[in-house]
Amino acid sequence: MTTHAPQAAQSVTQSVTLPTSLDEAVEALAAMPAAVPVAGGTDLMASVNAGLLRPAGLVGLGKINEIRGWQYQDGHALLGAGLTHARMGRPDFAALIPALAAAARAAGPPQIRNAGTLGGNIATAAPTGDALPVLAALEAVLIIAGPDGARREIPVSHLLAGREMLRAGELIGYVRVPLLHAPQVFLKATGRTGPGRAIASVGLVLDPARRGVRIAVGAVAPMPLRPLEAEQWVASLIDWDAERRLAPEALEAFGEYVAAACVPDQGDPVPAGVLQLRRTVAVLARRALGRALTS
Ligand SMILES: Cc1cc2nc3c(=O)[nH]c(=O)nc-3n(C[C@H](O)[C@H](O)[C@H](O)COP(=O)(O)OP(=O)(O)OC[C@H]3O[C@@H](n4cnc5c(N)ncnc54)[C@H](O)[C@@H]3O)c2cc1C
Repeated sequence: MTTHAPQAAQSVTQSVTLPTSLDEAVEALAAMPAAVPVAGGTDLMASVNAGLLRPAGLVGLGKINEIRGWQYQDGHALLGAGLTHARMGRPDFAALIPALAAAARAAGPPQIRNAGTLGGNIATAAPTGDALPVLAALEAVLIIAGPDGARREIPVSHLLAGREMLRAGELIGYVRVPLLHAPQVFLKATGRTGPGRAIASVGLVLDPARRGVRIAVGAVAPMPLRPLEAEQWVASLIDWDAERRLAPEALEAFGEYVAAACVPDQGDPVPAGVLQLRRTVAVLARRALGRALTS
């Protein structure tokens, strides 16, 4: 279905296409290579309003029902890219993937959460994207839709690190995440009261089947950072067959280990801002693990 943009917007955007399936959306992009996809529009319209982007056309993803929910697949959940933050924040979703639900509840004010989507958060790939450290800790995989019904998979960490890119005309269709049936935590520091962008955030998941602790730190670098040595060290301290408890000193040391790995020294003496950020990351990591182990 193609509609024409209102008169006032025509100098910027020539046409808006509203496909009802993922493949139709890919076709629309192929037919109009200068058009850009738009889901909730919360990031895209900010760029248009700031004069940073003048798309020749828009392919709206809001009418594609197949990507607005989720389904189960071999111990995983296949999340549609069109899931809004508001939908992911609801209790039924939180019971499945608690850390992603917590990140969704923290993503901006209500009007942003009602419109903004998982796929938009990933494609924008802002350092402050709240879903991103959680997806990195979950080792999520993106299902990409391309021309002629093609599907390919990219680990989310590859996309965020720039190791693999979306090709022209491709769309993020789904995000596959493992259902771990174990505690998970998302924590975010904003430096202010109420909704705000993260100064630092952490997504932490326990993976009892692999006897693993996985944590990713967001907002301190262009992409979420995984402190792999700290993860392995702390996982080796946990008695996975008994009560999963750690002494306060071990939690403290984990926080410091994560912070040192993710916020490196920058100069001598280390600038006060760097020390403060490291302190914040250490506290978030310690609290996240403490909460996961006592949930
Ligand atoms: C006031 C304000 C506060 C905000 N606060 C937060 C916050 O606290 N935390 C946070 O994480 N984010 C925040 N955001 C950012 C934004 O809301 C999120 O990143 C949101 O998830 C973007 O989703 P969207 O559907 O609106 O994306 P859109 O704006 O529709 O699209 C963003 C980009 O992704 C592309 N895109 C969208 N869907 C797809 C797809 N399926 N496949 C390929 N490309 C796609 C678009 O072409 C565009 O380049 C805030 C934004 C605003 C304006």
